[in-house]
Amino acid sequence: MGMQVGVTMELLKPLLTDFTADGLSLVGEVTAEELDLTQDDAQVLGPLAVSLDLTNVEGLVAVTGVLEGTIVRECVRCLEKYEDPLAFSVRAAFVPEPKSSSRHPKRVDPRKARAEVVEAEPEEEPDDQYQYQGNQLELAPMLREHLILSMPMQPICSDDCLGLCAHCGKNLNEGPCRCAGEPPIPTFRVVQGLKRKTGGSSAS
Ligand SMILES: [Zn+2]
Ligand SMILES: [Zn+2]
Repeated sequence: MGMQVGVTMELLKPLLTDFTADGLSLVGEVTAEELDLTQDDAQVLGPLAVSLDLTNVEGLVAVTGVLEGTIVRECVRCLEKYEDPLAFSVRAAFVPEPKSSSRHPKRVDPRKARAEVVEAEPEEEPDDQYQYQGNQLELAPMLREHLILSMPMQPICSDDCLGLCAHCGKNLNEGPCRCAGEPPIPTFRVVQGLKRKTGGSSAS
């Protein structure tokens, strides 16, 4: 079903005129750059696989699908980078931009244009609602937002990550450090100091 679009620009900017009665299926790969993702947003390893189904009901375009890829994250416990396979569902709606001031007839038939105006003020707005101009959707900002929202606040490389030793900073996932076997020196010193202080005060 649906057509497979190989060219990324078409994948991320589908035209309403390409929709069939069943809608439009988009399958392909996009890069982080094409989604305007910076290294601060997410460190994406390789391309992201996109599989989307679009339907157009009188100008209201519903998008559902899956975005898959691999993100390189930094573990908050051990500070090591790790590869996090990512797969999440995408769900969004696109409505025509309300401003109808630009009256360029972009291959939209009058009946459809009127439907767009009616749909410009939907009764209920879902959270993931975007707007489009003319008859072309811009999927990149929507996918970018989905990806950023999927980022964990506290990424952890593994549930049983041992983290770093608080004393020597060694990554304990790589094995125990030398601090482990010996008595915790800083604590010992504090106890000793307290004793001496107490002893001194009682003597005077
Ligand atoms: Zn870790
Ligand atoms: Zn240590």
